[in-house]
Amino acid sequence: MKKDTTAVFAIKKRSLFKTVLLCLPMMFLTFMMLTQGSIPTDGERLFALIATFLFFNILFFLMVRTGKTDRFRSILFITLAVCFVFSFISNLIAVRGSMALSRATMIEGGAPFCHLVIPMTIIPAALTKTIIFPGKILGRYSIAGMFVLWIGVSLALGRGLCSWFCFFGGLEDGFSRILKKPIIKNINKKWTYLPYAVLLGIVLMSALTLSPTYCKWLCPFKTVTEYVEITSVKVLIQTIIFVSLFIGLVVVLPILTKRRTQCGLFCPLGALQSVTNKTNVFEIRLDQDKCVQCNKCIKACPTFSIDEESLGRGRVKTSCTKCGKCVDACPQQALFYHVKGTSLVSKLDRYRLLFLYPAFLVLAIISSRFVQDAIVKTINLITTGTTI
Ligand code: SF4
Ligand code: SF4
Repeated sequence: MKKDTTAVFAIKKRSLFKTVLLCLPMMFLTFMMLTQGSIPTDGERLFALIATFLFFNILFFLMVRTGKTDRFRSILFITLAVCFVFSFISNLIAVRGSMALSRATMIEGGAPFCHLVIPMTIIPAALTKTIIFPGKILGRYSIAGMFVLWIGVSLALGRGLCSWFCFFGGLEDGFSRILKKPIIKNINKKWTYLPYAVLLGIVLMSALTLSPTYCKWLCPFKTVTEYVEITSVKVLIQTIIFVSLFIGLVVVLPILTKRRTQCGLFCPLGALQSVTNKTNVFEIRLDQDKCVQCNKCIKACPTFSIDEESLGRGRVKTSCTKCGKCVDACPQQALFYHVKGTSLVSKLDRYRLLFLYPAFLVLAIISSRFVQDAIVKTINLITTGTTI
């Protein structure tokens, strides 16, 4: 039976003085990260740096002051995805003249390595001591760089990687916020097992064929990054699959369901990250005494990580990306960020802050280059008609 829902808990705003004090470390860290020891002298780059610094720190300030997480996280997360796509494509066009990846570039190892490739490279690397991807081992967008980032972020945030690091996730997050109410409301729970099947399938196929199966056949994000030059019927079929998956899982279904369907129902890296949630210290917990079973959190969760069973158990599923949307949505403040092994009674916002420092810093680090680059390119586009 549903409990009385009249006792709505108001979130208490933090005082201005306390908020500023709590924001100072983030201001210092983002300043150091953005300047990297030198302040640019040309006007456009200086403007981009100041704008990015203010943007990051205003969002962090609002998170700390209001007690809301997802509302402000999503602004930076969506900005990251848009800036990444804009910056990535315009760089490719400047360097190669198109988004197409030629055979010659692959032979040279010139394909940027992304985190979605990671699950399928591990077994072949252990068996053959080679990485089955045409990318560089060291340097910008390199295999080693991405592995280090992935291990670090997984240790710090677990599956929080999917809402605080992934530079693709913001696209579907953005599309999932277009409508006020979902048109498709009920999705069979069985679909949430699909990412694990995709993970198993691509790991086995990649180990058997010694080639990155997901990249070759299934990655929706090829549509907005780079794709192999279409020189055969096989490549044409692959391209049709990428574009269809992008339109279906990243654009149309997120709009209709208000969920992140590629993350929650398809992504193999997401499935792998759910495993890392088991060892990560941060989690979302539920105070069953406060919960009035209004189900607002179930409707809000973009990755299908809360259901009635979760409410009964007092904890969300391991697929939780720690986005904070359910925490923001709960009218009773029954949901909260928590550090495993500590008291459940202790004060809620302390744990949220402990999580916010590493999580926001990760999001700021990964966003910084793309946001600044996109600002400079936009200024160039407006003033000269070209992004270069
Ligand atoms: S935890 Fe979920 S079901 Fe319970 S009160 Fe909060 S939003 Fe409603
Ligand atoms: S359970 Fe809450 S924090 Fe986790 S993914 Fe769902 S909405 Fe985000």
